[in-house]
Amino acid sequence: MRKLLMVKYAPEIFLKGLNKNKFEKKLRDNIKSVLNGVQYKFVTDQGRWFIESPDLDETIERVRKVFGISELCVVTQVENDLDKINEEALRQVEESGAATFKVFGNRANKSFYLNSMEVNRTVGGYVLKNLEGKISVDIHKPECKLHIDIRDYTYVYSKTIKAVAGMPYGTNGKTLLMLSGGIDSPVAGYMMARRGVELSCVYYHSHPYTSERAKDKVKELARILKGYTGKITLYIVPFTDIQMDIMSKCREDELTIIMRRFMMSIACKVAKKYDIHSVATGESIGQVASQTMEGLVVSNDASDRPVFRPLISMDKGDIMDIARSIGTYDTSILPYEDCCTIFVPKHPKTKPVLEQIKKSQELLDTERLEDEAIDAMEIVEI
Ligand code: ATP
Ligand code: MG
Repeated sequence: MRKLLMVKYAPEIFLKGLNKNKFEKKLRDNIKSVLNGVQYKFVTDQGRWFIESPDLDETIERVRKVFGISELCVVTQVENDLDKINEEALRQVEESGAATFKVFGNRANKSFYLNSMEVNRTVGGYVLKNLEGKISVDIHKPECKLHIDIRDYTYVYSKTIKAVAGMPYGTNGKTLLMLSGGIDSPVAGYMMARRGVELSCVYYHSHPYTSERAKDKVKELARILKGYTGKITLYIVPFTDIQMDIMSKCREDELTIIMRRFMMSIACKVAKKYDIHSVATGESIGQVASQTMEGLVVSNDASDRPVFRPLISMDKGDIMDIARSIGTYDTSILPYEDCCTIFVPKHPKTKPVLEQIKKSQELLDTERLEDEAIDAMEIVEI
């Protein structure tokens, strides 16, 4: 009898047909990588994955953040022997303190002499007999769901831990996340990474208008994201010269939107330079002046590759809930200025017209400004 961690992966991976092996291999590599430094052993039984470790709590904490895993269950492995199964089932139901229970038998190993229904009846009957008067069966809403999974060994469990699900990280191309110190962009990055997309980040830094602490905050956010993804490259682009030039040459109400076009265009150039397929932002429709439909049209025009905005249709409250659950919220709300809050016009254009903005931008030496910023960028491995 031993305690193991059962790893259940997201049902979507089962649908991958011939590619299933590729996804499984990536998932397994990602598990190995997060468990670096932890003592563990990988065990399989008829297609199911298990991890054995003397440090089960730490293992759970790390593995539950691996994209592609939907649930983890702490299971007791026993031999395929009805007495042993009954004994462990009784122990777990009793320990749960539940008033109602239901047995979920699963006979993956067809050579076991009881089928799933018979397992339910037999084990359920044994538990009832031994806990007479203390517990009853509830097939609709049981307090304790007791699983009996019969393979080469039998796995008995009643507790499941929700993991992050999604697709294995690194199976769906690459994106360059525009990471600010705000609440939204780390959530956007998490959502892209959760679909298996590999993340790099770009941050526009307006030294000395934005402090070293603002930069550290962005690094810290990247570090939190790294808990889900493994190493991340952060490109820190100096942005002050560009902003100064826009301020001195363009209309005040066009500052933000022109700045957004620079951010978009530089992100695309950095992506191209490092073979990253796409760009991602934390924009959400209508949230601020530059995120109106018209604003998005104008900033998007400065991009030459797909720009993904996973939060586009989400309410701020829902974004904040995700930020809290993934652990970025407390860092995001630290009160350090970001470059956009310093150079904000009093009345930014909410309905910019593309041709007009492009005309204003002709006053600037856009290509040169962008290329100089990229040449001066700092590259940090998080
Ligand atoms: P966030 O909470 O992500 O900062 P926001 O609601 O403050 O977003 P904006 O400031 O308009 O909205 O920024 C929109 C998006 O542009 C951000 O989600 C982010 O992807 C990107 N962005 C904004 N400022 C920066 C910056 N300094 N560096 C990198 N990306 C940025
Ligand atoms: Mg912001």
